[in-house]
Amino acid sequence: MKIINTTDSNFKEEFENILARAKTDIKGVSAIVTNIIDEIVEKGNGAIKEHILKFDKWEVKQDSDLEISVEQMKKAYENIDEKLKKSLHIAYDRIKTYHEKQLPKSWIDFEKNGSILGQKVSAVDRAGLYIPGGKAAYPSSLLMNAIPAIVAGVEEIVVCTPTPNDEINELLLAACHICGIKKAFKVGGASAIAAMAYGTQTIPKVDVITGPGNIFVATAKKLVFGEVNIDMIAGPSEIGILSDASANPRFLAIDLLSQAEHDEMASSIMITTCDKVAELTSIEVDRFLETLSRREIAKKSIDDRGAIIIASDMQEAIKLMNEIAPEHLEIMTNNAFELLPKIKHAGAIFLGKNTPEPIGDYIAGPNHTLPTGSTAKFYSPLNVENFLKKSSIISFSQEAIDELGEACALLADTEGLTAHAKSVRVRLEK
Ligand code: NAD
Repeated sequence: MKIINTTDSNFKEEFENILARAKTDIKGVSAIVTNIIDEIVEKGNGAIKEHILKFDKWEVKQDSDLEISVEQMKKAYENIDEKLKKSLHIAYDRIKTYHEKQLPKSWIDFEKNGSILGQKVSAVDRAGLYIPGGKAAYPSSLLMNAIPAIVAGVEEIVVCTPTPNDEINELLLAACHICGIKKAFKVGGASAIAAMAYGTQTIPKVDVITGPGNIFVATAKKLVFGEVNIDMIAGPSEIGILSDASANPRFLAIDLLSQAEHDEMASSIMITTCDKVAELTSIEVDRFLETLSRREIAKKSIDDRGAIIIASDMQEAIKLMNEIAPEHLEIMTNNAFELLPKIKHAGAIFLGKNTPEPIGDYIAGPNHTLPTGSTAKFYSPLNVENFLKKSSIISFSQEAIDELGEACALLADTEGLTAHAKSVRVRLEK
């Protein structure tokens, strides 16, 4: 694995490349996706059928072929291995408990002059969850997207997932059953995003779309934003690790590879203050690579986009990591919690040697749908609030309008809005 030092003459250039890791040329993709969206708006299910035949290679004979029934979900649940079933339930319970802590409360305040101000929190009526399924199936993503919507109190949850060759993952169906999903469709890619944004004869229009996906999915989410809300634009997975001389190079190496195996475009970056740890981790990465089922993907990701950076001290390491703003950040030092206040930007932070990133992918409880490509500088992990919105509450007494009405009318006058001013002043007339 490439090792670079912050004192190297070409370090600035190398670091610029790391910061630019998620830049993709979406121009070509944009045209394709715009066309797919237009076709869905124009032809609805007819276009979905064409897209499924083209990309997922199966023929939809009638609209009902698109639907996944609750009976199918129940049957899949009943047939899965008992240990796996138990694992799904453990994950479900832990994710639910964590997300319940996120629920914001409505509030109301009473002022002395009799005015009442507050904020009412309500769930969106309908949420659309995109669960990727082109190259692999992700039952864990179903749990991570559905549970915050359930906790938020969304009444209708719609799931879309592609089923290449009309083959559906049984564990995904079982996860749908556990979450009580009633509406799920075998539709993927930009077609699914457009269908949920605009509605078709079969797929209902939703208010918010969440969930990860490939470049076609991400671009479609960008293009339908405004018609519906979206959670974020997520790109290839990433891990950043901060380590010192106390860290175990075997742990560091396999944790770097845990993200590299996702995708050739994934990025795994470690910043360490110890030369020896850098060297040993690189050796361990090569050793572990030989043992992985997805070694081709992981190797390409490590070769093209991986790096170990040796920093002069932890302060410099943290400064660089905050600029990278990784999706997942592991702090593998002997004082992890002391460093925590200095971390400004990261999707999820894993502290201490017993907290490998995959524990957060499945079972810890926090959401694994996280901002990538430095967007942790402004996005948060998927959470309950993605499925909620707030309304302001205002009620004025006679005393309150007498006290504040003229100030309000004067401000309206300055904007030339005479009906605004008058609507207040008529209430001040005695
Ligand atoms: P996907 O479901 O995102 O995309 C499959 C769909 O893409 C197909 O059904 C088709 O409609 C469309 N498509 C394929 N080729 C196309 C083309 N040439 N033109 C137009 N549309 C086309 O599945 P995927 O491809 O396997 O990608 C899933 C992505 O999601 C991966 O990058 C994976 O790493 C990521 N992921 C992220 C998380 C997370 O939490 N961040 C979780 C799971 C998966």
